[in-house]
Amino acid sequence: EFGEDTGGEEELVARPPVVTVMGHVDHGKTKLLDALRKTNVVAGEAGGITQKIGAYQVSTEVDDQERKITFIDTPGHEAFTAMRARGAKSTDIAVLVVAADDGVMPQTIEALNIARAAEVPVVVAVNKIDKPGADPSKVRGQLTEYGLVPEEYGGDTMFVNVSAITRDGLDDLLEAIVLTADAALDLRANDSMDSQGISIEGHLETGRGPIATVLVQRGTLRVGDSIVAGPAHGRVRAMINDAGESVKEAPPSMPVQVLGLTAVPGAGDSFLVVSDDRTARQIADRRSARLRAAAQAAGARRKTLDQLFEQLEKGEKQELKLILKGDGSGSVEALEEALSKIDVGDEVALQVIDRGVGGITETNVNLAAAFDAVIIGFNVRAQGKASELADRLGVDVRYYSVIYAAIDEIEAALKGMLKPVYEEAQLGQAEIRNIFRSSRAGVIAGCMITNGLVRRNASARLIRDGVVLTETTISSLRREKDDVTEVREGFECGLTLANYSDIRVGDVVETFEMREKERV
Ligand code: GDP
Repeated sequence: EFGEDTGGEEELVARPPVVTVMGHVDHGKTKLLDALRKTNVVAGEAGGITQKIGAYQVSTEVDDQERKITFIDTPGHEAFTAMRARGAKSTDIAVLVVAADDGVMPQTIEALNIARAAEVPVVVAVNKIDKPGADPSKVRGQLTEYGLVPEEYGGDTMFVNVSAITRDGLDDLLEAIVLTADAALDLRANDSMDSQGISIEGHLETGRGPIATVLVQRGTLRVGDSIVAGPAHGRVRAMINDAGESVKEAPPSMPVQVLGLTAVPGAGDSFLVVSDDRTARQIADRRSARLRAAAQAAGARRKTLDQLFEQLEKGEKQELKLILKGDGSGSVEALEEALSKIDVGDEVALQVIDRGVGGITETNVNLAAAFDAVIIGFNVRAQGKASELADRLGVDVRYYSVIYAAIDEIEAALKGMLKPVYEEAQLGQAEIRNIFRSSRAGVIAGCMITNGLVRRNASARLIRDGVVLTETTISSLRREKDDVTEVREGFECGLTLANYSDIRVGDVVETFEMREKERV
């Protein structure tokens, strides 16, 4: 069985916290991780030369006791969400880095929401305090507005002023992490069972074969153990710690590079020690087969809002997580405000885990996949790769263009009422390649139908850079010189939009119809 410590309470021993560093781009995550690595790499005391293996441990003294902390050495929340998306809980505490000269920025809030949704306590590192424009108290004030109240203001979040350049405050930050872990978490593991954990990084090295850095979560991993790691298996031939030294054992919370696997496991894949090589191979083969089957069934795995709603109706699912994206901060705020007013009683929780302005991105989709959230797009669209990724990960993306329609549907579903009778049916998309002006017809868009079809009198939206500029109808449609009612994928056409002429080359016209919803 994966994921549980065996044995009773008495077999559990304290383990170091595992920390991920998150925050807005350029606020100093990488620099801070580099600076912390140099504070006191546990095993590096002898040689002093450290090796980047994807995670490292440092030790610090708190209340006269030596305490260790494990840092995941990948800055940013991409790594965090990618691992979560695979069901791996890799992090105990998040360090939220905020540059004191820049203050709270969109990705600061995104990172905070991710940590919250994962129920991981946050320590705030107010970085760059060496800079002339630094205003650490402003950062405290800003985050207070987001519910992260500093201890010195009576809250329960530790804020520490640091500089990754001058190295000021680094020891205080380490202490704050230990104190937060002690106060909020009970970090213990059985160190004598067969080892389990997750893979955090892997690559192929010529001459040495597949190399994976794993984070031991339970048990003690030893050279000679037979292990399964994702679809890979093998016998641990050698282990290397973050100081580049060869080690024989790795206890809970320790990251080590493992040599001897048959393949490279992915970040977030779980590993476990089994009794012998044969068992390891059998489990690995079964996992590979399952992965292949899962990839084939990806389409059928879609977790739709309807399924969530059904679960809610049956009282199975107690919460609905949403990510809101809109065409302006006003519309996103209005949507969130309206959502907060939905009275759903005490049984269900409606939680907005992230919100933002602009088209739906891959980050949004990864986050939704990690937390089973539904994405609400208000006058915005998922573009390119984000759309494919949503399909692949089975993330439900819902588009709305009027606030009350979104609210109605969510409210109705949450209350277990009937679903709306009409729903939007996509017809197709056309890309504007040329623009012509005619004294009779006005501004004509020369289009290529990139998928589906375009129909005269159908509803249409004009989309520029992922944002919906208008919703109107197709008022005329021509193929070569003839008026036509419909043009299909792969053909060119000229069309005009009713009452709308602000079009540009590169804009996308999306057409749709309202259809009666099929009842299941
Ligand atoms: P990341 O995108 O969050 O990983 O940010 P980086 O670590 O790459 O840092 C962005 C920039 O800020 C770099 O030019 C760093 O040298 C600089 N920087 C990071 N920390 C500090 C700091 O404490 N003080 C000053 N003055 N500059 C810093």
